[in-house]
Amino acid sequence: MIATYNDLKNKKVLVTGASRGIGLEISKGLAKQGAHVIFNYREGKEDVAAALTEELKTLGASNVTGLKFDVTNEDEMKDAVGEFVKEFGPIEGLVNNAGISKDTLLLRLKGSDIDSILSTNLKGAMMLTSICSRYFLKAENVSIVNVSSIVGLMGNVSQAAYAASKAGLLGFTKSVAKELGSRNIRANAICPGFIATDMTDALEDKAKEAYLSSIPLGDFGKSEDIANLTCFLLSQASSYITGEVIKIDGGLYI
Ligand code: NAP
Repeated sequence: MIATYNDLKNKKVLVTGASRGIGLEISKGLAKQGAHVIFNYREGKEDVAAALTEELKTLGASNVTGLKFDVTNEDEMKDAVGEFVKEFGPIEGLVNNAGISKDTLLLRLKGSDIDSILSTNLKGAMMLTSICSRYFLKAENVSIVNVSSIVGLMGNVSQAAYAASKAGLLGFTKSVAKELGSRNIRANAICPGFIATDMTDALEDKAKEAYLSSIPLGDFGKSEDIANLTCFLLSQASSYITGEVIKIDGGLYI
């Protein structure tokens, strides 16, 4: 079930990492609201982008635009966002969702792993927000949602770099909220717990069972749960909420 927010109709919202998992569901949720959904895709994923465009239009998106960029490539992001704004006007919502995890014990952590995790999960979100911010100033009721993780709050074995990237997003979110609040630009972070996607499919069964036994609500989360919260935060239904960190984890953090 997805709640409806009338003000999301025609709202131009950019979602990164929309090809699958949580980002895909957020895009679908926005399409059902009648938003103009903007998503990114990477080189070589043109087919995925074309299929997603069709799917989102069928679901009710007022418009759909795929932008080709990798969140680790600043120039690609600048060009793609600039071209979009020239044609359609300023982006009014941003969901920094693209992310990677590479679980490994601290003992075996390589500098190259730290670089790729931080540049995708943290620097990517920071740069894209920075690039969009000049256009946000010309838009109304802008809302930014950064997809962090409860791991960013509580840490986790084998996820030191991932946890650091997600904790970094929280400081970033609060700084953006303070810096841009006077322009009515909001920024919030969400911290999903264990959500069933490709990212968590990769975990061993033993690890999944351990998580499950620690979740008071007794089940893994669904990407739709995250889509619902994200739509709420993008809409004016949450107009007085900024700089917040919202856990959505079935009670895993308690
Ligand atoms: P997923 O299924 O692995 O999907 C990741 C998405 O990010 C894909 O669309 C992928 O695109 C995109 N992406 C990765 N690197 C990128 C890059 N350099 N440039 C552009 N796009 C890139 O992950 P998910 O489980 O849906 O997770 C989405 C977000 O939620 C992540 O930030 C993750 O850390 C966070 N999160 C997930 C969970 C969970 O339990 N699943 C819990 C807490 C937080 P391609 O298809 O091109 O690879």
